[in-house]
Amino acid sequence: MTIRTDVADLLHQGMSDRAISLRLHCDAKAVARARAALGLPKAKSGYRAAASVIDLFHDRTESVDGGHLRWTGYTSKAGLGSVRYAGRQYTAFRIAFRIQHGREPVGHCSSDCGMPGCVAPAHVEDDTARTRNRATYAALIGVESPAEACGRGHAAADHRRYRRDGRPYCLPCTTGTDSGRRT
Ligand SMILES: [Zn+2]
Ligand SMILES: [Zn+2]
Repeated sequence: MTIRTDVADLLHQGMSDRAISLRLHCDAKAVARARAALGLPKAKSGYRAAASVIDLFHDRTESVDGGHLRWTGYTSKAGLGSVRYAGRQYTAFRIAFRIQHGREPVGHCSSDCGMPGCVAPAHVEDDTARTRNRATYAALIGVESPAEACGRGHAAADHRRYRRDGRPYCLPCTTGTDSGRRT
C-alpha cells in the first residue's frame, strides 16, 4: 500500500489514529492501516498527541445556527471554557481569538454576539477590538465624545471605553484605578 508521507510523519510522532484523521481530514481506518503497514504500535490510550492547542479547540466545539460555536469541553464553575495543553491552561476565548487574529489578545477576552459563551473565532473580541467596534457604533448612533481626555485628565485614546449601548466612559475613573495618570 502507498502511505501518505504526512500520515507517516505524524504516526512516527506518536499521534493517535483519530488525532491524525482529524488533523489531516482523512479516514481514521486508513491511518490505522498505514500504522499496521509501518509496524508501529497503537498510540497509548489516554495519550492525546494533539498537534496544537487549536486542534484541541476544534475537537471541543460544535457549530450552532447563526455562525456561533458552542464549547463542549471542560468548563469551570464560573462558566469559562478552557483546555490544558503541554502543561498550560488556555481559555477557549483566547484560543478563538488567536485563530481569528493570529496574535495574543489584549486584556479581557470574550464574545459579544448575543449567544452566551459563544467561542466562534469571528465573535470573540479583546479589549482593543471591543473598544474599536464600540467606538464605531458610538459614532454611528451619534453618542461619540469629541473630548480628548476625561475631566480628570485621562487621555481618551488610551482610556476611553464604550458600553454595549455605545455610551463612552473613562476606564480608570469607572474602575477606580488611576494608572492613567502616569502615562
Ligand atoms: Zn457567536
Ligand atoms: Zn478618567
